[in-house]
This record gives sequence, C-alpha cells and structure tokens, in this order.
Amino acid sequence: MISPLFRWILNTFTRSDENQDKIMLNLVLFGPPGSGKGTQAKKLTEKYNLIHISTGDLFRYEMSNNTPLGEKAKAYMAKGELVPDEVTIGMLENKVNKHLDAKGFIFDGFPRNTVQAEALDKFLTSKGTQVSGLVCLDVDDEEIIKRILERGKTSGRADDNDESIIRNRIDVYNQETAPVFEFYKEQEKAQLVHGIGSIDEIFNRLCDAINSNLVA
Ligand code: ADP
Repeated sequence: MISPLFRWILNTFTRSDENQDKIMLNLVLFGPPGSGKGTQAKKLTEKYNLIHISTGDLFRYEMSNNTPLGEKAKAYMAKGELVPDEVTIGMLENKVNKHLDAKGFIFDGFPRNTVQAEALDKFLTSKGTQVSGLVCLDVDDEEIIKRILERGKTSGRADDNDESIIRNRIDVYNQETAPVFEFYKEQEKAQLVHGIGSIDEIFNRLCDAINSNLVA
C-alpha cells in the first residue's frame, strides 16, 4: 500500500510536462495561396521566437529527398489538390513533437480543412496547449494570381507557373480551406488582416492583431 502522502509527493515531482497547461503562442497564419504567409511567417517567427511549420515546405523537402512521403504528396501538389489528411496530419504532428519545448508555433498552410483543424485542436489539447488564434491575410483573387505568377519566375515551383493550377488552388482554398476561418471564428479566435501593402505594413498589422488580442 502506498500512503496518500507518498502518492502526492510522487505525483508532484514526477508529473510530466504534458499534464500541465503550457503557456505557448500558437498562431495559425491563414489566407489564400500567395497571400504572403511564408514571408510574414519568417518575420513573425523571429519577433515572437516561435517555430515556423509550413506543411508546403515540409512536403517540398520530402519530395526533394525522394522519400515515400514525398512520393505520396507529389501528384496532389502538382495538381493543386490537398494531400490526403492522414499523410498531412501525421507529418505535422511529428514536426510538433520534435519541438515541444518551444515557446510556440506558427502554423503556415495548416490546417487547410476542418478535419485538419479538429485534429490540430485535439492534438494540441493532448499536449496541454491550444491554438491561441488565427490571423488571416485578406487578399483578392486577381492580386493572388498576379503574385503567384511573379513568384513562379524564380521559385522553381511547377504549381506556381500554370494559371489553371493556380486557379484550382484558389478554388480548393475557397471550398475546403475558407471554412477553417469560420471554425476558429466560432471559438472567437479568428482575425482578418488587410493583406495588401508593403511587407512591413502588413507585418505591422499582423503584430497589432497579435499584440492586442493574443499576447498576455
Ligand atoms: P501556397 O500556400 O502558395 O499554395 P503551400 O506551400 O502552402 O503553398 O502549399 C503547396 C501545396 O502543398 C498545396 O497546393 C497542397 O498540395 C500541399 N499542401 C500544403 N499544405 C497542405 C495541407 N495542410 N493539407 C493538404 N495539402 C497541403
């Protein structure tokens, strides 16, 4: 028999971090393809000392190394379709698990549908934390197409060079991804930020949104 006092001492000193509430800043950086998430994520990562996780970058890394995961993602990415959830969610969770001591994360390109959003909430809850908020870069379709075609000249990304694939990515965004904004709006965690202007102007708008509502 373990005495209650001994059990209390044992629990107190051996409790794993996973059972404690962690104060992290976990941002979902949201918006259509080409809205500037990657550019802004880099700046936000530095300012708030977070880990940047871009599912698109992770897939491209896997593809460039010809891994089985990269092979799975390839055909979907080439068409501008979403990579299946089970592949994407597993990859995301692996990446988060490697940085559990971080101050927080910027999720860029994830979640891209409500199944992924539910999976992220459940996963972060299991780690004793949660999504702090979502900030969405608001940019209209014509501006996006212009920007992506411009980026395509140097990005080396096949999906940036073909207007019909870009339009498909925008359709997928409107049909499958946009509901994620509503998902977090219902939790009172979603904010819209005007996404046209200079990089620094947009960065300042994002910081204002984060500082006024998400940072204690
Ligand atoms: P962009 O935001 O400019 O479209 P990304 O690098 O975020 O670029 O995504 C490129 C492609 O990678 C997407 O079109 C999709 O095929 C795949 N992808 C990225 N993130 C996800 C995700 N969360 N779920 C499914 N597929 C994804």
